[in-house]
Amino acid sequence: MRLLLASGNRKKLEELRRITAPLGVEVVQPADIGGLPECVEDGETFAANAAKKAREGAQHSGLWTLADDSGLEVDALGGAPGVYSARYAGTHGDDEANNAKLLRALAEVPDGDRGAAFVCALALAHPQTGEIAHETIGRTHGRILREPQGEGGFGYDPLFEFSEEGFPVTGLVFATLSGDEKASVSHRGRALKELEPALSRLLKDS
Ligand code: IMP
Repeated sequence: MRLLLASGNRKKLEELRRITAPLGVEVVQPADIGGLPECVEDGETFAANAAKKAREGAQHSGLWTLADDSGLEVDALGGAPGVYSARYAGTHGDDEANNAKLLRALAEVPDGDRGAAFVCALALAHPQTGEIAHETIGRTHGRILREPQGEGGFGYDPLFEFSEEGFPVTGLVFATLSGDEKASVSHRGRALKELEPALSRLLKDS
């Protein structure tokens, strides 16, 4: 089985590759098939956008296609930036500007009210028809720091401190974690873990 990862974000692709590696599927990136037409992410939810990306990728490539739509929901901002996370400060994918805007928006918010969650919706689309065969959502809870920490990861990782009650690993900034450490608790890792049984079944049948 060949699985297309329908994402143009290099860092996300790295993470998805890492997480799908143990499944033994042959992973194909957009660059391997001459690129994908741009998908207009106009859905109101992560799930709607992930499904759209997966469907269009599958219809274009004729391959099983996995797409991710993800972002950050900040409690004190009523869930913003949410589906607008990538373009929060205006320019799509400008992580530095997005982080600076987030810090400004939370400047007056006290430490106890800086809760946030990363959310990742995954959708797996059938080759050719583009029908969505499976979808999952993963969430990771933490809080937004007052200044960036760490050099790893991408996006809001330098401002996100993982902290979940009852979990052995707490108080860790995402940008200071190794790829495996982040994948073990991240929204993307969790969403994929839930999708794993469906992928394994497909592998057996293919
Ligand atoms: P998408 O390509 O529309 O799914 O954009 C997702 C945006 O959400 C990214 O550009 C980041 O700003 C943010 N984001 C999603 N996942 C992560 C993560 O694992 N770490 C940090 N930021 C993330």
